[in-house]
Amino acid sequence: MLITEKAPAKLNLSLDSPMRYLDGMPKWDMVMVSVDLADYVTIEIADRPGNVKVYTDSSFLPNDQRNLAFQAANILRNRFHHREALTINIRKHIPVAAGLGGGSSDAAAVLRILNSAWKLGLSLEELARLSLSIDSDVPYCVYGKLAHVTEHGEKIELLPPQPHYWAVIAKQQISVSTPQILRQIDYTQIDHLDNSLLLQGLRNGDWQTATKYMGNVLEPLTMRYYPEIKRLKDKMLALGADVAQMSGTGPSVFAICHTESRARRVQNGIRGFCRNVNIVTLL
Ligand code: ATP
Repeated sequence: MLITEKAPAKLNLSLDSPMRYLDGMPKWDMVMVSVDLADYVTIEIADRPGNVKVYTDSSFLPNDQRNLAFQAANILRNRFHHREALTINIRKHIPVAAGLGGGSSDAAAVLRILNSAWKLGLSLEELARLSLSIDSDVPYCVYGKLAHVTEHGEKIELLPPQPHYWAVIAKQQISVSTPQILRQIDYTQIDHLDNSLLLQGLRNGDWQTATKYMGNVLEPLTMRYYPEIKRLKDKMLALGADVAQMSGTGPSVFAICHTESRARRVQNGIRGFCRNVNIVTLL
């Protein structure tokens, strides 16, 4: 049996961490959306017992248990005692280690594929709960729809879909270590966000209000190391983006525009700053 599933990238329209739990993990308060920039995950399920093998078309990525898709497959194999040999092929389109959740989305696609192929009958909520041990972004990626994400990342409240706005996503040639940034959060110093106004705007379809209250509290931390992220963001705003912001811990910066022509203008205007640029629509 051969099944392919899309694994879309995510953007953080809003990202705050109000506190750290006693287990050392951050508590999240995020609004996330998926976009039509996606990896393609294909799983071949053999009729005989065997191991999990992962292949990707990216030379940067591990093929063993460090690959999040591999971890996802093992969670369901072990829990439901499936022993069939699995070959997972991942065609990467989402830039790696970019703050766009590529690895998490690949893992979520594996969970959805195996849930359906093995007729496990798990709800998305159950899959999301099982996936939390992989990474805090995987539960959101199980749904892949505009949502308010809280707690360790496992509490997902879906929000009404918005019009298909455009986003320009730019990744500069910078590597950001997520654990390094997360270790540096000083909860008393962060200018915390009040997501309630953003949520109200999104629930009422009031995009102007929504854009006013988007934000990412990790921007100042990452920008301290990489001031070029701030320069790119400022350039996008000067070119007329409705909002321009870093996604996750960076380094990707996205500009959201309500028309395609405005998005093209932003894309053309940042050519000198960055070569890895994608124009997408919000899902
Ligand atoms: P995070 O913020 O969780 O670190 P990210 O969105 O910035 O994630 P990813 O592309 O998910 O970036 O990669 C993060 C790390 O996960 C990389 O170091 C990469 O080696 C590892 N990784 C494991 N599996 C995958 C995968 N299938 N695709 C991409 N990265 C993967």
